[in-house]
Amino acid sequence: MEGGYQVFHGLDDDKMKEACGVFGIYLPDAEPGSNEAARTTFYGLYALQHRGQESAGIASSNGNDIELHKGMGLVSEVINSKVIDQLPGQMAIGHVRYPNGEDSHPLNTQPLVFRYLGGMVALAHNGNLVNAVELRKKLAREGSIFQTTADTEILANLMARHCQERLENAVTRVMSEIKGGYAVVMMTENQLVGFRDPRGIRPLCLGRINDGYILASESCALNTVGAEFIRDVNPGEIIIIGSEGLKSYQVREAGVGAHCIFEYIYFARPDSTIDGINVNRARRAMGRQLARESRVDADIVIAVPDSGTSAALGYAEESGILFEEGLMKNRYVGRTFIQPTQQMRDLAVRLKLNPVAEVVKGKRVIMVDDSIVRGTTSKMIVNVLKQAGAAEVHMMVASPPTSYACYYGIDTSRSGELIAARLDVEGIRQFIGADSLHYISVEGMFSVFDAGEEGFCAACFNGEYPILVEGEVMDTCSTE
Ligand code: SF4
Repeated sequence: MEGGYQVFHGLDDDKMKEACGVFGIYLPDAEPGSNEAARTTFYGLYALQHRGQESAGIASSNGNDIELHKGMGLVSEVINSKVIDQLPGQMAIGHVRYPNGEDSHPLNTQPLVFRYLGGMVALAHNGNLVNAVELRKKLAREGSIFQTTADTEILANLMARHCQERLENAVTRVMSEIKGGYAVVMMTENQLVGFRDPRGIRPLCLGRINDGYILASESCALNTVGAEFIRDVNPGEIIIIGSEGLKSYQVREAGVGAHCIFEYIYFARPDSTIDGINVNRARRAMGRQLARESRVDADIVIAVPDSGTSAALGYAEESGILFEEGLMKNRYVGRTFIQPTQQMRDLAVRLKLNPVAEVVKGKRVIMVDDSIVRGTTSKMIVNVLKQAGAAEVHMMVASPPTSYACYYGIDTSRSGELIAARLDVEGIRQFIGADSLHYISVEGMFSVFDAGEEGFCAACFNGEYPILVEGEVMDTCSTE
């Protein structure tokens, strides 16, 4: 509650929250005093905004010093031309962070910048260390002090312990001590570094821009800034970019891949290609598979925009039922401040998603969404569609029931909030008030990928965790 009002994040409140987005750039041909690296990072972060809306930040290096600007808010709220002018240098890294009330503190914004014996280092991180609690206790016992609750600070402390070693050796040692899903961009005064967990849970890709390089969470950020996609960073790989060019070290033997399947379902942008699979194509294929698994007589197929759109198009293609735009999304609504009454919550939904009465009135409607987390938004959307005159609303979900918590960087861990952890499909149908409810099966979801279930983490659907989770693990992504 803020000032007697509830901060309602609208529809996004009922979605899995992506951990973060990271971006790093090295531009050897830029003038050391130019702001080109920071400016490009700004646009890259814009393209990654969907991965986190709580805070944003950029650190730049001119070869001697690292400058930093970060704050709470969207990229456009935190960074402007004046800020970019104060971030000179040939290198920069940036970060966007997801909203999480419990861990929401300006101190946890990233990048984090540290001075240590070896010089300065800036770090930005996407993911979650499953042994963070243990590592933090160990470091604290050895005298480390912490200003934040971010895993990133654990990485920085571990780096500091190996600061006398060559950079690749120091990062290798850090990677041997940490466990979990992570994609990190890091910058010393004169080198840009990227590394990815040995199972490749969190995404990280490499691109080329002029004579320079970019590391980014998703390829859509490369396209946006005019860079060329080179490849994904391999699981367990360290990339170091500096005056001697790009060097790659496969420091941890890449285990069987465990790429987060939820990236393809919801987190990533449809125009991104992650680990060789285009997100839009995967979502469309899941929509087609869902249609094969759940035949329902209906007049129209509509999407819950935007994340349900690709799957809805696939559903319509396969079923032969007409795709219509039955819900209009207002893209200009940010956080909505509402009084905590049902009437006002309904208003908040309508502010973001309004039914097109002319399209749905009297129709048997198939509504496709990517996932159901808590079910509260689905319930409200079904309700507004019925109020708009829909004769029937059949909800189709292009992912299996989300029944298990994620420990690798996604905020689902309050499993009590996962409706599928408490109710069966019929119970969820009754809760949301739909005429029928169908989820894609786990096998059906895997069937749309050439590799089948090999190479993916789908633990939030099947409970098969690719990295053992022991003891205390905090609930959320970038917290200890
Ligand atoms: Fe992704 Fe789910 Fe695995 Fe977490 S548990 S990494 S959200 S697939």
